[in-house]
Amino acid sequence: MKKITLLKRSFLFSLAIMLFSFTHAQEKCGTAELMKQKLKDPVFAKQYAKRQAKFEAKFLELQTQKSNGTYKKATLTIPVAVHFPGGNESDRACLEAFAETQIAILNADYTGTNSDFSDWAAASSFYPGLNTGAADVVFCIATLNHPANTDSDLVEGGPAVTIGYTGFGGNDTDAKWGGYMNFLVKDAGSGILGYSPLGGSIANGASVVIAPTAYGSGAGCSGYTPGAPYNLGRTTTHELGHFFNLDHTFNGGCTGAGDSIADTPAVANPTYGTPAPGSVAGCNNPEKALTMSYMDYTNDTHMFMFSAGQITRVEAYWATIASDFKTGVTACNSDFTVTANNSPVSVCSPTDAIFNFTFATSGGYNANTAFTATAGVPNNATVVFSPTALSADGSFTMTIGNIATVATGDYTITVTAIGTTTKTLDIVLSVQAGVPSATTLTYPANNATSIGSSSLLTWNTAANAATYTVQIATDAGFTTNMTTNTANTNNYTATNLNPSTQYFWRVKSLNGCGESVYSSAFNFTTAAISCTTYNSIQNNITIPDTGTTEHVITSTLNIPDNVSITDVNVTINVQHVWAGDVELKLTSPNGTEVILLANSKCDDGTDDIGVTYDDQAGGPISCSTSAPCVGGTIQPENTLSVFNGEASTGNWIVTATDGYPSADGGEFLNFNIEICGAPILGIEDTKFAESVSVYPNPNNGEFFVSFHSTTSQAVKLSLFDMRGRLVSKQKFENNSNVFIQKVHFNDLAKAVYILKIQTGNSETFKRLVIK
Ligand SMILES: [Zn+2]
Repeated sequence: MKKITLLKRSFLFSLAIMLFSFTHAQEKCGTAELMKQKLKDPVFAKQYAKRQAKFEAKFLELQTQKSNGTYKKATLTIPVAVHFPGGNESDRACLEAFAETQIAILNADYTGTNSDFSDWAAASSFYPGLNTGAADVVFCIATLNHPANTDSDLVEGGPAVTIGYTGFGGNDTDAKWGGYMNFLVKDAGSGILGYSPLGGSIANGASVVIAPTAYGSGAGCSGYTPGAPYNLGRTTTHELGHFFNLDHTFNGGCTGAGDSIADTPAVANPTYGTPAPGSVAGCNNPEKALTMSYMDYTNDTHMFMFSAGQITRVEAYWATIASDFKTGVTACNSDFTVTANNSPVSVCSPTDAIFNFTFATSGGYNANTAFTATAGVPNNATVVFSPTALSADGSFTMTIGNIATVATGDYTITVTAIGTTTKTLDIVLSVQAGVPSATTLTYPANNATSIGSSSLLTWNTAANAATYTVQIATDAGFTTNMTTNTANTNNYTATNLNPSTQYFWRVKSLNGCGESVYSSAFNFTTAAISCTTYNSIQNNITIPDTGTTEHVITSTLNIPDNVSITDVNVTINVQHVWAGDVELKLTSPNGTEVILLANSKCDDGTDDIGVTYDDQAGGPISCSTSAPCVGGTIQPENTLSVFNGEASTGNWIVTATDGYPSADGGEFLNFNIEICGAPILGIEDTKFAESVSVYPNPNNGEFFVSFHSTTSQAVKLSLFDMRGRLVSKQKFENNSNVFIQKVHFNDLAKAVYILKIQTGNSETFKRLVIK
């Protein structure tokens, strides 16, 4: 139930409550009376009205922020000065300690961390929906940069506690102490525990006045002895509430706007003494008076909380006057944090690594705090902090330089900040290898000729390369027929090269940090197309004239040369009575089958076959009535061009099938096959690559390498991992036509490697599996 919409109460009821209160106690707080007097001063009244207008705007703004969740808490440090005008300097040690007893109470009461706050658990059932309040604030007796010409006994680093200083005069205000929250501990009037301006001025040096018997807690000092039941420092909590614009919970009784706070129930009168929670009726039944609020009149033992609405109002007042608080005068509860904003940082050698940090202070921390890297800095690296130290909120950087000399890898670096305390944090630096170096091409040699339609291209391993880009084109400007290919090692096999064609090629190195320039380009020219005719060796095979299942005759011819086929022509001679019984088929080493002569094609009884099949012949089969029945140069039943692109080497098979086995036999005489194409391997490659043996493979790191050698030059073996990185190398003398060498590579991980075997101008690569 909101007090600001409170109902009018009956006059009789209000009168009864007022009479009851009167008989129990008098005002213990002089704030209302003080304001009544002060507002008679038009200057004060105007200043007050302006502050209140500013406050109301802030209050609305804060309530909106809290309701829509955009309110950001930020610790407010309030610099406090405590004044004992009636004290003796000889008592300074006692009074300084005594002054602090009150500060501890304020810090607990305003942040909801007071030990008796737990009493709310039992009390809360009388106040449904009411939340307690807790501010984010630190009250701190100032110790630095004291104002001049006040108490000459104040020292830098010592507390702002004046003793015997009377600068606050009759109006309890001292401009010299503007910017401070001033506590003036002095007689507050007969029976009055304290008073404060409502919504006080920090800028003007106003003060909160507390009676010497109501300030702080404990044994006190001479002339300043806390007296029960107001000996727990809650008078200052209460009066300070006024300074921060809080009214009494009973302000206005059951009429008007009350304390202008929605969540504190309206109540007709103050409550004194030690009321049980919920024991005092509020104005609006069934609401109960919030007697445990610091803004009522109970004994110190029975006030232990602010409502959420009260704290929001206090926070709004702080927001109104925040800029009035003097800065750089406190050092208590101060602290700092250092946060890394961009760890880990990954850099490519030799680029510097720059880490960004945020330095944040709290509680008025302002000590010079220096930054160093205390552990984990890579060998040879340099470390530069900028700035090297901070004493206020800010940011700084740590630059790790000389990365060129730092080994690749991850480094955890400990950054230490040394101020009034020492703090450390770890950041991670990841150093990547720099941009890879450019490579140079090795094979085929520049201007090489007679290169096959498929050729290995090799180049030198480039430092830090992870992959390579290989460009191949038919012009030096790399624009015509250009292909861009990726290789993971320092070689690449170019395939489907056209015959009699000049190719240009170049390679660049790449890794996660960038890429090299392209190598100087090399060029080579592929071999021309040539045609070779091979004669069959399985000849004169009888085709029986008896039986019940068809007779299948095969003649196999092994072709040693390896070209990429561009044309195949085949000539077949078969003696057979009734040639129409015979089907002819050609099978390539790749297993591709082409029907040349279909069964029963020329089935008129004419004998013999003597025919050349050529896709480019003038026409298809024309059956002759005189032997040979199938003759001339003709197109086959199915086209021979399906062999184009296949490799020529291996077994070629002509199959003659006699589909009428019981009669009419004959003899498969012979065949020849003309194969045209470009060599797949260059001449040099073919000889060397075919000659090299690596065995056993897989192996355990120990194996033999052998080949026929045409030079006496040394043999170099280089072992690369699958990323193209050189793992190991060995060199052997070669004094024989047959090189045979037992090779052992130590401590190899089980993996697949590429072994490069090189002698003279010849080199080849073998896949090597270590198990
Ligand atoms: Zn009061």
